[in-house]
This record gives sequence, structure tokens and C-alpha cells, in this order.
Amino acid sequence: MLQEPEDPQVVVQMIILCVDGIDPDLVQEFGWGKLFKYNYSLSIPPECYVPDKELGSTPHTTRVWPTIFSGQIIDYGLTRRSGARKKIHDALVRMGITWKRGKPKFRVAPTNRDLETIFDDFHSFTWNLPTMDPEWLATFPSYEAFVEHCKRELWMFMLMTRGAVNSVFPLNAFYVRYVDFIGHNEPEKLRGAYDNIFQHASELKKKEDVILLSDHGCDAGLHTEQAYFGSDYPIHAESVHELRDELERIFIEVGLDYWEAPQDFKPEEEDLIKERLRRLGYIE
Ligand SMILES: [Zn+2]
Repeated sequence: MLQEPEDPQVVVQMIILCVDGIDPDLVQEFGWGKLFKYNYSLSIPPECYVPDKELGSTPHTTRVWPTIFSGQIIDYGLTRRSGARKKIHDALVRMGITWKRGKPKFRVAPTNRDLETIFDDFHSFTWNLPTMDPEWLATFPSYEAFVEHCKRELWMFMLMTRGAVNSVFPLNAFYVRYVDFIGHNEPEKLRGAYDNIFQHASELKKKEDVILLSDHGCDAGLHTEQAYFGSDYPIHAESVHELRDELERIFIEVGLDYWEAPQDFKPEEEDLIKERLRRLGYIE
């Protein structure tokens, strides 16, 4: 509980920059195809798409990232926007079954918090991974709130990735919307956004092993149908769902050790401690 790994001097470091919306073709177009020895364009399985009014369907952030890190193609069943679910909903309403719809200020979505990922096998620190980390927010009450959040998220991403150099954790992964945000809102500024991210990656790369990857591209306000993977280690993958095993191979190659979680923390006076924390409002 709240421990840092022992013997930080010998820790081999890997930093994974998870940047939403980087398109492999635009990486080349903007002249960043040489920062990493290997640049890949990966396909996205249809299960990671959601229905879209304009396009029919589009790769979705909430689905691609969990697939990348778990290696699993997850069957999400009925989506919120699917016609079948609406039919079921309407039928229930006709039967007199209704439910209250809450209006939370922000919707936090660690819906895949218990999903088994590559980060369970190595001693890792992850931040803001979509649907997997508690910091990640899914929806916002207004466009303004979304914009504010994205600015703050970028700032945090820059701070934390810099801080990850010499981190005591061997494996570190951080997520930011930034490039996707620019692709949706100000696509004419995309070149500058790529410059910022790749320049940043280049600085980090002088000190640690870095991998830069995306869930799909974003251009002219719409998601593209290919994901990006940049690394100094070659991989054998054509689709994002094949990345997990390739990442594992790279981690072992660079010298990361498999991690065994310690026994659960069990204080002697557990009940007393919990009761005190409850009274303070820390837990329910
Ligand atoms: Zn995305």
C-alpha cells in the first residue's frame, strides 16, 4: 500500500506516451517519421467502433485503449446509441418500468478498472488511461468545461511525463487527448500539435526508452481508421489488439522484470482504522 519499489538505482525505465488522435500518415506528412526507428500504421477491429450519424461508424477512444493494453477484443454488446437498446428501453417504458437519470457534473468512467492489462504484469504507474484509470473523465457538462479540462490535462501530461524520467517505476504510461482535441476543433493547427508532442517525446527519449502510440488518427474534425505506433523496437502487429503481446516482448527485451503484486495490505487494527476514516468521510 502506497509503496515505491525498492532499489530504484537499478530500475530500467520505459515511458509510454498515449496520445489520442495521432494519425500515422500525418506523422510522415509533418516530417516526424524519423524520431522513432520504427513507425507503424495499425488497423482497428470493428468491435472498437461505435455508430456515428455522419460516418456510419467510427473508431472510439473508450474502446481502442482497453483493447490495446489488454489484448482483448471486448464485446461491448449494446451501445447507448444502438437501435436495439433503444427498442428495449422503449419496451420497458411501455411496461411502466422507468428509472431516474442522474445528471452528474462530470462522468468518470473507470468502467474497465478491473480489466487485466499489460500493466498488471510489470511494476507500473499509469495515469489517465481511458476507462481504466480513475482520473479519466468521459463526458462534460458543457463544451467550455471540456475545453478547460483538455487544457489542464495537457499541462498535467507534460508535467507528469517529465517527472517520469528517473521515476522509480520501471513502466510508466500517460494519456492525453491533445492531438485528438486539435483534430476536432482546430485541424489547421495540427502540424503544431504534432511538433509539440514529437519534440517532447524527443526530449524524453534522450533519457529513457519511449514508445508513442495512438488509438486512431484525427483529421478535419473526424477520426481516421488507423492507429499509430512509434518505437525503437520492431513489432509484428497489424492490428491494435496485437500490441499487448508485442509490448510484453519489448519490455522483456529492454530488461524490465515481471512483477508480482505483494500480499494485500492488512493492518492489525483494520476495523478501527476503517471506522476512523469513515467518520472523516474518506470512505463510505
Ligand atoms: Zn481517441
